[in-house]
Amino acid sequence: MSLAHDTAPRAAANLLRHDWTSAEVRALFALPFPELMFRAALVHRENFDPSEVQISTLLSIKTGGCPEDCAYCPQSAQYDTGVKAEKLMSLDAVLSEARAAKAGGASRFCMGAAWRSPKERDLDSVCAMVEGVKALGLETCATLGMLTSEQAARLKASGLDYYNHNLDTSPEYYGAIITTRTYQDRLDTLDQVRNAGIHVCCGGIVGMGEGLEDRAGMIATLANLPVHPESVPINMLVQVEGTPLAASAKLDPLDFVRTIAVARITMPASVVRLSAGREDMSEETQALCFLAGANSIFYGPKLLTTPNPERDRDMALLDKLGLRPMA
Ligand code: SF4
Repeated sequence: MSLAHDTAPRAAANLLRHDWTSAEVRALFALPFPELMFRAALVHRENFDPSEVQISTLLSIKTGGCPEDCAYCPQSAQYDTGVKAEKLMSLDAVLSEARAAKAGGASRFCMGAAWRSPKERDLDSVCAMVEGVKALGLETCATLGMLTSEQAARLKASGLDYYNHNLDTSPEYYGAIITTRTYQDRLDTLDQVRNAGIHVCCGGIVGMGEGLEDRAGMIATLANLPVHPESVPINMLVQVEGTPLAASAKLDPLDFVRTIAVARITMPASVVRLSAGREDMSEETQALCFLAGANSIFYGPKLLTTPNPERDRDMALLDKLGLRPMA
């Protein structure tokens, strides 16, 4: 069956595929841009109201000093980026940020900690934060590093709705980006999270010097997980001075848009999040991302430690495009 006949009818029937080959995904990337956008927009409409955008706010609850060596990350203790290691925030401080996020229109509050994996005492504190944020009427999300099945079960019991753990890139390119944990470690954590009944938020980063085949390999891996991640963040690398990727070649914004479109087509029912990198993205590129099926953004002036567009600018852009926050 040709790809032309393969993609659209399956999406129309809302059958979720988990058997994408890298060649099929590469063929989607290679479609003429208008055709790719058209297909992605069709799939988007079949599964979502395309005028709605889910809004999440991300707070760094424990910044810096991370022992891992992710080559893009300013929070790694292995790079001199000027990010200072801080202690875990207090419960009160986190709840006050969560209240502000809710008042600003966020429906989900994500808490990120720069850990390889949480220690038991830290997990007690995070569980209390999850309970508190949930009690404010917000959806909860956390990203804390690798989890055991017991830790995932505890987070679920405290009311955690989503856990973020990205695959970052393709299995083949992964070794060029991270050496302190394996791809399989990541897949194992995703299993623990899914088995605990927590929604999975999992995506990756593009613009890290990878090739098109790696972007295709990453999307194929995500789409072939046993269950598609409910949320798929696609990040554009933010080049941070002091990290090994500070001087990597910039990705063409249209290649970023293509990545969003291919994620939308291969994971039709997932929320695809336009994540890091928006600060440097033109309004036109962001508009193309929404056309390509992105239907979530991070909102607020900071994404962990890197800048993000100011709230007013975001609201003005959504307004200009006739988009509205998802309830
Ligand atoms: S991405 Fe996460 S795990 Fe990797 S260095 Fe940064 S904080 Fe640590």
